[in-house]
Amino acid sequence: MPSTYAVAGMITRLHDPQYARWASQIRATGGCRQPIHLRGHVLHIDPATGQRLHRYSTTSEPDGILRLPCKTRRATRCPSCAETYRADTYQLIRAGLVGGKGVPATVTTHPCLFVTLTAPSFGTVHTRREKNGTVLPCHARRDATTCPHGMVMSCTARHGAEETCLGEPLCPDCYDYAGSVLFNAMSPELWRRFTEALRRRVAKTAGLTQRELREQAVISFAKVAEYQRRGVVHFHAVIRVDGPEGPATTPPAWATADLLTDAVQHAASAVAVTVPAVPGEPTRAFHWGTQLDVRQITMTGDLTDQAVAAYIAKYATKAAECVGTLDRRIHPLDDLAALPIRDHARRLIAECLRLGALDELAEFRLIKWANMLGFRGHFSTKSRRYSTTLGKLREARAEHRRGEAISTGRLPLFDEDTVLVISHWEYAGQGHSIGDALLVRALTGSRPVDPGGRYES
Ligand SMILES: [Zn+2]
Ligand SMILES: [Zn+2]
Ligand SMILES: [Zn+2]
Repeated sequence: MPSTYAVAGMITRLHDPQYARWASQIRATGGCRQPIHLRGHVLHIDPATGQRLHRYSTTSEPDGILRLPCKTRRATRCPSCAETYRADTYQLIRAGLVGGKGVPATVTTHPCLFVTLTAPSFGTVHTRREKNGTVLPCHARRDATTCPHGMVMSCTARHGAEETCLGEPLCPDCYDYAGSVLFNAMSPELWRRFTEALRRRVAKTAGLTQRELREQAVISFAKVAEYQRRGVVHFHAVIRVDGPEGPATTPPAWATADLLTDAVQHAASAVAVTVPAVPGEPTRAFHWGTQLDVRQITMTGDLTDQAVAAYIAKYATKAAECVGTLDRRIHPLDDLAALPIRDHARRLIAECLRLGALDELAEFRLIKWANMLGFRGHFSTKSRRYSTTLGKLREARAEHRRGEAISTGRLPLFDEDTVLVISHWEYAGQGHSIGDALLVRALTGSRPVDPGGRYES
């Protein structure tokens, strides 16, 4: 139930003489839950005469501000902007698979794989596995050992899909929390080494030097990071071989999906990244986990381009919150024990704070990225030649909006090359009042999210 205060705020807004303009600003943000407020002005001046051709100022806007979408990719922060991000990611992944957005359709004939690289084990966790539609016992061991903390290393439960124990260790005191967060911190570097090793292996198999390979083919990547419930990231990637000038050029005849598959398997098992010993922690060498999944993407088979694009786009808007951590930065002064999170996440965060305080590990900025459980990489990245870019998709959308603004008389129709544009903007806050938030919901159908990151019912 909305509070009377919220309802009063909503009524005030509805009676505001500038309500129509406010509503149109809100629609232009697509129902963003936490729009950025800007205050400022734009002057259009004729450079020849110095004459002012047009002036736009936010002083004439409702509340004296312009509201712009926050553009977050995080669905828990802003469902509507995250949806835009997801849709854009889908478009660009799909363009790299079947063409479109400037990528020719002949790209479908290029060898292309969907690869999942997982993290290694940091201790036994509760899991749910199915075989032929039957849920298997979690971790049944007839000859189970008892750990030094008195826990029997066996679990015969057949866990439900939503059970909160999934991903949690059988014995938290045995679990390698330091290894888990350091793996997350090192995973972008492990990925980079994987791509290099892959290029070397492809060149070697084809009997080429690295330089000769570059003259004949480009290997493109698009990847997303996903958190497993145990709190480590793994990567899903589309890997494709093109001709020397990218997706518009034909790959050489030797570049087959089988050759690429072999190279991926070789590179994934060959690379490692080492974290030197620090006080209280041994040297650790991280490899990918043994569960490597490599599948060929085809237009018609089990794994179609559509399924892959949808899958990658879905994970692009998820962060660590599905592990049960916080959807915001952790401050070193936060009372960890009081945070409303799972104990497993709490221990991973505590480990980030502990290791992050060590000088030797300062470069990983583990304190800053504690709520991400140590991972500070990008959630979705792609190599330059993969397809179009998110920036280009955003530009196209901004151009469309600008067209709308011109037709409604808000922006002058000048050629920006012949007119001097002087603008001044300042940040004036973010978000909605609770009364406005109710109206935004009514106007755009977007659902507000509570601070804990869950949808309101
Ligand atoms: Zn937003
Ligand atoms: Zn279990
Ligand atoms: Zn133990």
